[in-house]
Amino acid sequence: MADSTFTPTGFGSLAIHAGHEQDPRYAHLTPIYASSTFVFDDAEQGMRRFSGEEPGYIYSRWGNPSFTEAEEKIAAMEAFGIRDPEGNPLRLKALLHSSGMAAISTMLLMNLKAGDKVLTHFSLYGGTQDFLQNLLPAFGISAVIADLRDPEKARAALKADPAIRLLYLETPANPTIQCVDIELLSKLAKEYGCTVACDNTFATPYLQQPFRYEVDFVIHSTTKFLNGHGTSIGGVLLGRDQEFMKTKAYKIYKTLGGNSNPFDAFLLVNGMKTLELRMERHCQNAMEVALFLDRHPAVAKVNYNGLESHPGYAITKKQMRHPGAMLSFELKGGLEAGIQCMNKLQMCTRTVSLGTCDTLLCHPASMTHKSVPAPLREQYGITDGLIRMSVGMENLPDILADLDQALSPTL
Ligand SMILES: *Cc1c(COP(=O)(O)O)cnc(C)c1O
Repeated sequence: MADSTFTPTGFGSLAIHAGHEQDPRYAHLTPIYASSTFVFDDAEQGMRRFSGEEPGYIYSRWGNPSFTEAEEKIAAMEAFGIRDPEGNPLRLKALLHSSGMAAISTMLLMNLKAGDKVLTHFSLYGGTQDFLQNLLPAFGISAVIADLRDPEKARAALKADPAIRLLYLETPANPTIQCVDIELLSKLAKEYGCTVACDNTFATPYLQQPFRYEVDFVIHSTTKFLNGHGTSIGGVLLGRDQEFMKTKAYKIYKTLGGNSNPFDAFLLVNGMKTLELRMERHCQNAMEVALFLDRHPAVAKVNYNGLESHPGYAITKKQMRHPGAMLSFELKGGLEAGIQCMNKLQMCTRTVSLGTCDTLLCHPASMTHKSVPAPLREQYGITDGLIRMSVGMENLPDILADLDQALSPTL
């Protein structure tokens, strides 16, 4: 920030200003530093930069000014209003990645070794599930899956298996919007000496801050609400332990090469400035859409954690500012009704992903979760008639009108 003595008291002001440094050539916005390397005045300076004696950029896989602004902005938002055990404002270190999956895989690889296990919930982002269950076993690391909505089941798993070294949380989770209690579970994991990581993609730091609890790492797919406009793929890994992040984490990040690029970082910085405004509108619309669907005769069930009927309602009230913009609903007519509804949409967009300005709908049984065997889908709550929705920022009457006509029976 231009004047380092001024600390914004509002999240929105912080989202706009945090991480920005005056450009040496006086550009208003940080330019896109499209440069793979950075030069040294002399060989001695190169030596000092390599040894860490002098701060400065060297090579863009290791860091770039366009990444730094994005990293500092996200770190400031995730730490907003939180104090460390000494009572000082919490400081976090962020590493910007090429995708959410790059951040997740880097975080898991830097914390685990052969013989270790990861405890997690059964409802997870598909790529994360794939990495845990199909890739990590080749390195001698495996996953223990439990229904983490029940803390007793989490305790039983931790007690039974001392090889569990990391608790991996994602809340709210895809596509059933299941929620787990971050405070309770991270406290429990700490009793057993585990590292705790939380994927905060669906909530964003405006709605939920896992670092308020005993969480060590937070991950985002910045592709979603943080970018907010669907213009780039990206991810971020944030850590509480500055020393670990600057040494071991940074070394592994540099070696694995999951870094972002200056253009995507620029788009992300631009998008994040409006996070507060966007989330307010997204959430306001989502609540109304959930109520509308809940009353609709074609709809059998609505999964939205802002509805009292949702099992995660109480946890949501405890750990989130608003219930978010993601919901899903089941149609009475099953698979056929699901496909018909998708095909009849006129304004809302048929696509996967989430967190863009426009309202997005997808049909998990025929799209994102088609490869999951039907009995398992049923068990996870991904029924054939389930439709997932990322509620956008259009004017509410337009969203409701489009849904209403798409849900009305075809004559
Ligand atoms: C999209 C997503 C990811 C993966 O992020 P990419 O940017 O696509 O690699 C991880 N977790 C959640 C919750 C997601 O929605």
